[in-house]
Amino acid sequence: MSDPILCIHGGAGRWRDEITDPALARPVHDGLDAALAAGGAVLASGGSALDAVQAAVRTLEADPTFNAGRGSALTSGGWVECDAAIIDGADGRAGAVAGLRRTRSPVGAARHLLDEGRHVLLAGSEGEAWLHAHGVEACPEDWLVTDRARRELARWLAGDQGRRGTVGAVALDRDGRLAAATSTGGLTGKRPGRVGDSPLLGAGTWADAAAAVSCTGLGEAFIRTGFALRTALRIGDGATPTAAAADGLARVGSFGGSGGAIVLTRDGRWELATSDSAMARGVWTPRGQQTWLAR
Ligand code: ASP
Repeated sequence: MSDPILCIHGGAGRWRDEITDPALARPVHDGLDAALAAGGAVLASGGSALDAVQAAVRTLEADPTFNAGRGSALTSGGWVECDAAIIDGADGRAGAVAGLRRTRSPVGAARHLLDEGRHVLLAGSEGEAWLHAHGVEACPEDWLVTDRARRELARWLAGDQGRRGTVGAVALDRDGRLAAATSTGGLTGKRPGRVGDSPLLGAGTWADAAAAVSCTGLGEAFIRTGFALRTALRIGDGATPTAAAADGLARVGSFGGSGGAIVLTRDGRWELATSDSAMARGVWTPRGQQTWLAR
């Protein structure tokens, strides 16, 4: 029997305003707390790591404060294209989706593929239509698009670098199984059709018997470095989660990127690392939960 653990993140980035202004920081901490409570309740009642990461990520997707599901960053065309992945480290079952525009919970869509077991990654309007025809809940496009995301796109079009973000969770359950899930709207102003690291297993999301990893940051750099798989393999070879994450973030930096990752090992060690000025993140254990925003 293992002591269950859940780690989550709500994205890394240039969040100086949210750190220094308590009125802005509050909704971020509240959203993280709600997600930890949702995923923690699954683990506390003996549920699986897989169900726990899905419950935590679904809670963050429904919260417009975060860049995933409702509140996703907008493409340069002004609509959302959501990416998500979920993977069970115990047996390698996985599901992922990319470019969804009308799905209430992208991680739920990814879970549907994991359970069905035929394909791992489904993308675009044809894939989304199939998911809706097979029980995945659709929603109006407008429900996913918030005024805040519209304002951020307007700022990006005016030359601002744009705010990033993503949400993710890694968990260890009582039976020693690990799982990871990640969901994102991607980068504000991204080209329609662009897919980031989050739905790509081994890049932004990974879990195996040794470690579970969920990333946030400049997706192109995380894809190029194979961040999540590389980190888990290094841990499997004996590296500490702290050393493995630091090495991965240094590699991301060498590709001009920055970001963060949450990493959890089979023996219950965790690391919430970032090379940005802030990362929304938190940890749940049976003894309590805690959240952080500043680096
Ligand atoms: N990694 C996400 C992407 O590139 C964005 C982020 O985490 O900020 O799609």
